[in-house]
Amino acid sequence: MNASALLTLLFAASLDAGAAHRVESAACVTDEVRSALKEVQLAAAIDDRAYRWTERLVLDVGARPAGTEAEARARAWALRELAAAGLDEVRAEPFEFARWTEESVTASVREPVQHALRAVALGGSPGTSAPLRATVIRFASMDALRAADPRRVAGRAVFLDAPMARTRDRTGYRSAVQARLDGPALAATKGAAAFVLRSVGTDRTRQPHAGMTRHAADQAPIAAVALSVADAELMARLLAGSQPVVIDLDVRTTMARGSSANVRAELRGAAASDRNPSVVLAAHLDSWHVGTGASDDASGVGTVMAAAALLQPYRSLLRRDVSVILFGAEEPGIAGGHAYIDAHRANLNHVVAVESDLGSGRLWRMLLPDPQHPTPAELAIAAALEPLGIALSLAMPSIGGPDVGLMAAHGVRVYDLDPDATDYFDIHHTDEDTLEHVSALNLRQHAAALATFALIAATVEDRCLH
Ligand SMILES: [Zn+2]
Repeated sequence: MNASALLTLLFAASLDAGAAHRVESAACVTDEVRSALKEVQLAAAIDDRAYRWTERLVLDVGARPAGTEAEARARAWALRELAAAGLDEVRAEPFEFARWTEESVTASVREPVQHALRAVALGGSPGTSAPLRATVIRFASMDALRAADPRRVAGRAVFLDAPMARTRDRTGYRSAVQARLDGPALAATKGAAAFVLRSVGTDRTRQPHAGMTRHAADQAPIAAVALSVADAELMARLLAGSQPVVIDLDVRTTMARGSSANVRAELRGAAASDRNPSVVLAAHLDSWHVGTGASDDASGVGTVMAAAALLQPYRSLLRRDVSVILFGAEEPGIAGGHAYIDAHRANLNHVVAVESDLGSGRLWRMLLPDPQHPTPAELAIAAALEPLGIALSLAMPSIGGPDVGLMAAHGVRVYDLDPDATDYFDIHHTDEDTLEHVSALNLRQHAAALATFALIAATVEDRCLH
């Protein structure tokens, strides 16, 4: 059976199993909410607040790496704007985390012939205590590196050269990113002198892609950099020749305690009480040091703020609050998301959550946490998203965005509203993450979708959510 036939069968099976739910889903949305939904979607079609807020965060703050003065300014800006937008209980929840900073990177091929390389240090990478010279050994995949005899790897610069697949959803990224996250630690266990990654990106340019790495607490990490895709291809061509390839690497980084904070605000429902867990709309405030963080994640911040603003006139309908959470320090290993769970573990008073953090491509599908058993509320949300061009997909379960994904283990149902990410990984974590790649038109659709999701989730009776 091919994949689409399987999907059709799965889809039909799930919906048949939930036939009673389907009837119920219509009953879960009152006439009042139904007409409010229509008004919200029409208002969103000509509302540019998501883009305006994105633009302000980019222009007034720019790049805002976690724990920096720029991130603090982004936070102050968000606190101010959320209060001005009329949200309640606007506040910051501070936390500390390990703050890593790239001071400088130079990389070049020394032999068989001199070539300057465009590289960025990977998050968490130590510096080279002195300029490092090493012979390069190439691996085409993590599996090949895993299988390698440590005697071949010891003292070498491991070059992991695995191209990323361009996909509409995030699956291309999810498989490629393992090389960045775990490649340096794997190379270190085999005695490598340094780790050189083909950037996790779909472009063919000379912009290297930044990003985090991880390693065990008891392991000494090695210097790790990402080469631009164009430079990785140059390296591969040199390595295909008969002569050894030797590189010079000079990486300077620092690690220190850092301070950040998550920003929160509530859109208080008139019929809400603390007994009704809230609906979360989330994004993250920090960015990498490269680019301006326009798509990652200023546009997410602008989108959730606009969605909350669109719901302002309908507070009287809400039996649950809508919580806006703008996380700090997402890029360094989801520090803000983990701090949030730590602070609220005893009473994580949220029922459902969605996060906007995959660029401003057109939203095309909604994924559910348990596709085999859609709830009446989920079917009602799916029906209301259809006019926005967003289809319900039962192809795989949702995982939630990076920050709210952590809430799933604590009983919160997390959703994916997926943008078309075909082009997103051309610019992700690079100098090219600028306003030029943000679609103001698509952000209207994003804000409409998040407002639709929150309006239904915050107004249905409890029985509709299960
Ligand atoms: Zn992000």
